[in-house]
Amino acid sequence: MIPFLPESLEDLWKILHHQPEYKIMSGGTDLLVRLGAGGKQPPAVVCLEKIGALNTLEKTKDEIRIGPGVTLTELLHNHLIQEHLPILHKSISTLGSPLIRNMGTLGGNICTASPAGDTLPALYLLDARMALQSARGNRVLPLQNFIKGPGKTVLADNEILSSIIIPRPAPFNIHHFEKVGQRKALAISVVSLAALLNIHKGIVKEARLAWGSVGPTIVRSRKAEAALEGKELTLASLEHAATLARSVVSPISDVRASADYRRKVTGNLLLRLAAL
Ligand SMILES: Cc1cc2nc3c(=O)[nH]c(=O)nc-3n(C[C@H](O)[C@H](O)[C@H](O)COP(=O)(O)OP(=O)(O)OC[C@H]3O[C@@H](n4cnc5c(N)ncnc54)[C@H](O)[C@@H]3O)c2cc1C
Repeated sequence: MIPFLPESLEDLWKILHHQPEYKIMSGGTDLLVRLGAGGKQPPAVVCLEKIGALNTLEKTKDEIRIGPGVTLTELLHNHLIQEHLPILHKSISTLGSPLIRNMGTLGGNICTASPAGDTLPALYLLDARMALQSARGNRVLPLQNFIKGPGKTVLADNEILSSIIIPRPAPFNIHHFEKVGQRKALAISVVSLAALLNIHKGIVKEARLAWGSVGPTIVRSRKAEAALEGKELTLASLEHAATLARSVVSPISDVRASADYRRKVTGNLLLRLAAL
């Protein structure tokens, strides 16, 4: 397997020209594990690490733009993320271990398109958009249109994720992320919940809720959100929303948990919001 380490996008397009079999790599924490476990070996791996344009993080008036190559550790320590996107910060803090976060990138977590990807529920709620680039040109699309299913994205041959664009969110006063795994650290989620709530004078003005690991992609339930809006955040309103949420998820049974358990936890995670 040939390794390539281009230092600019121009070099990248030359390397990828007419080579649809070449595999893109950022931190390698997903890809190399898959290849090491006997996955189909590509003729070459093209590492994006040295391409400066993919490693930037900037705030404009209306948006935060994150390069896909920014590592999870860099994001965790970045004041823009801490200040403006606390829900993304919380989800990254639960991802893997310090060693995995030092190598792993946000772009890699998104392109893996796992329903258990820890950053995805937060990014769905934040209305993140994906900028894609290839030698043929650019396009931008919402995250929910970028991910097609477990491990599947709309990326075309020789196209890369070049930026993650997050509009600066309306002010929410609850930024919550929780994942249930089989152990406390280095656990792939069995179910996760991201919640953004805007509560004014005790009444929920806006609720955004998204679950991971309970369907082929992240599940957002407008019905459960609407059940909370206009009400106080009480155990009764949360129980009603939890029932609705359990009815919209489509979990599978696997080595980590049964579908029934996942469905139950989908609702139970919501009930925790009563204690915040
Ligand atoms: C021990 C261990 C624990 C882990 N724990 C967690 C966890 O708790 N939560 C979690 O969500 N994940 C976890 N992971 C998975 C992984 O670490 C993360 O998904 C990480 O963010 C992947 O980033 P990466 O840069 O290493 O991706 P890579 O391995 O480099 O790439 C992943 C995929 O994305 C593609 N890709 C990468 N960058 C681009 C790009 N810019 N454009 C197009 N395609 C691209 C690659 O081709 C590949 O298919 C764990 C992995 C390990 C080994």
